Amino acid sequence: MNSLLLTGGRVIDPANNFDSPADVLILNGKISAVGKKLAAPAGVETFEAKGKIVAPGLIDLHVHFREPGQTAKENIASGTAAAARGGFTSVVCMPNTAPAIDNAGTVALIRERAEREGVVNVFITGAISKGIAGEEMAPIGGLQKAGVVAVTDDGHCVQNNEIMRRACEYAKMCGLPLMDHCQDYSLVTEGVMHEGYWNVALGLRGWPSAGEEMIVARNILLAELTGARIHCQHLSAAGSVKLIREAKKRGVSISGEACPHHFTLTDAAVAGSEKFWAGDGRGLAAAQGPNLPQWPAYDTYFKMNPPLRSAADREAIIEGLADGTIEILCSDHAPHCGYEKEVEFDYAPFGITGLETELALSLMQLLHSGRLPLADLLAKYTVNPARLLNLSKGTLAVGADGDVTVIDPDREWVFTPAESASKSKNSPFFGWKLKGRAVATIVAGKVAWSL
Ligand SMILES: [Zn+2]
Repeated sequence: MNSLLLTGGRVIDPANNFDSPADVLILNGKISAVGKKLAAPAGVETFEAKGKIVAPGLIDLHVHFREPGQTAKENIASGTAAAARGGFTSVVCMPNTAPAIDNAGTVALIRERAEREGVVNVFITGAISKGIAGEEMAPIGGLQKAGVVAVTDDGHCVQNNEIMRRACEYAKMCGLPLMDHCQDYSLVTEGVMHEGYWNVALGLRGWPSAGEEMIVARNILLAELTGARIHCQHLSAAGSVKLIREAKKRGVSISGEACPHHFTLTDAAVAGSEKFWAGDGRGLAAAQGPNLPQWPAYDTYFKMNPPLRSAADREAIIEGLADGTIEILCSDHAPHCGYEKEVEFDYAPFGITGLETELALSLMQLLHSGRLPLADLLAKYTVNPARLLNLSKGTLAVGADGDVTVIDPDREWVFTPAESASKSKNSPFFGWKLKGRAVATIVAGKVAWSL
């Protein structure tokens, strides 16, 4: 059944500046009509969306599904199930699998697996360098022919500027954007958390903001030099936002994305819940009620790359989202097994899961806080990532794919490990009171998940 009539919702389609009560009719997997009082053709079921937001299917352009090679952490079946629960109809997989997605054969393997086992659309990125080793360019033309939507060495960062320059030229020639995990290895060295007050207090090695800003600046210069489209991934530092804001004013083809953990938490969280709620978390505590979520100091669920930064950085990210400097929201969903995280902070892998909490955290930190209107927030999950990657997604225009997310922005809920569809449970947000969530995820006219 690839047809459905959604009735009575508030339809928000940022791609068409549409925001009005309306019905949405999907026929044979495509949007057939958007308007008032539509009638369901014979045999087409009705989905009652009264009091809800009906949006184009959400896109997360930054997820790690660990297939092939690390399927104890996640695979395409479990990863796409988590995506559907989070309200996402499309995801974009990063290529740091084992082996890396640096050749057409691996792209074909994942496409085939995604078609068979995925419950949402899966798009694939290819590596910039062979084996994501940063030493020799991957066959970008072949990757493009195999169907990748961008190239990135995410998890790693090409340090050699000459190789990055050539990759920019190739990617531009192939019509592909480059996405970059911005990390200068010589500055960051063995850093495990933000370099500031708390890493000194806790005795952990620092990962300075300049380690990110240095590569953001490099990317701006290379985008100007080559005309390539460069997208800076998971921005965490105030200086990065400033650099991108200034470059965009000059018309440079540069863009950025932000993840909810970077605009919700700060490095104080690594010192434990008591320090966080008494300091940087004060503004968030009221929403949690009297029983504040608790965690110990050195909790590895608060270790990610780039790291949680200062309250000033968190505010700069929100400001960048509010003024349009940062156009895209995403999770950097990075599953890891429990035993991998249950080690000393220094030895734990970087990363947290995020697909099932990112919409709620974005709504809380941006919409409910009064910083961003709902349509602008939804654009960062729909039309903006679709434009960057040239996907024919992210809109409810007639004829578009029938991907729809139904959202209750005011629904209160608590995230628990039992209800997570991910194979991994490395989220710092278990036990948090969240506000807003998807209630149905519809892919090509079919309900992939509903509450
Ligand atoms: Zn990354």
